[in-house]
Amino acid sequence: MEKRVLVLNLDHYPIAVVSVQKAMVLLLLEKAQLLSAYELLEIRTISRTFAYPAVIRLAHYKHIPYKGVLLNRANLFRRDRGECQYCGSTRQLTIDHVIARSKGGKTSWTNLVTACNRCNVLKGDKTPEQVGMQLRTPPFVPTLSYFLASYAERQAQEWLPYLETAVAQLQKK
Ligand SMILES: [Zn+2]
Repeated sequence: MEKRVLVLNLDHYPIAVVSVQKAMVLLLLEKAQLLSAYELLEIRTISRTFAYPAVIRLAHYKHIPYKGVLLNRANLFRRDRGECQYCGSTRQLTIDHVIARSKGGKTSWTNLVTACNRCNVLKGDKTPEQVGMQLRTPPFVPTLSYFLASYAERQAQEWLPYLETAVAQLQKK
């Protein structure tokens, strides 16, 4: 499978994940520098062999307005690592409002958690305390780095040294 490439801004802040083709263009045009390569992989052309980029850094600072991570079903499940936040099950996942909508609970990162169907039904429109259920992790607003570190743990260990803060956040869980 083709590996993805982490792009850092000039100040080393992670800003994007791109295809290896896109990364090679940036490197060849000297718009980015290679910081880390995937070992045991290389890119061959007819005449040359290149290191297979894992992490690159832009040569010029890029101003990017930070909009935050989009709140949707897939990203919510991803934040909660595909586990029910009450019992840890990975099956029949749904979205639970910690404070029910009928009680004024908002649809926001800090009031939504991944819950299996069973826990969601058990809890109903009560608060976790009222039914003796406990959240494994208080719901939080995830950052792009958090998602990148989560991906890197599984797919691209070469990124981890460049995602230190986010990695520390993951390990606290
Ligand atoms: Zn559950």
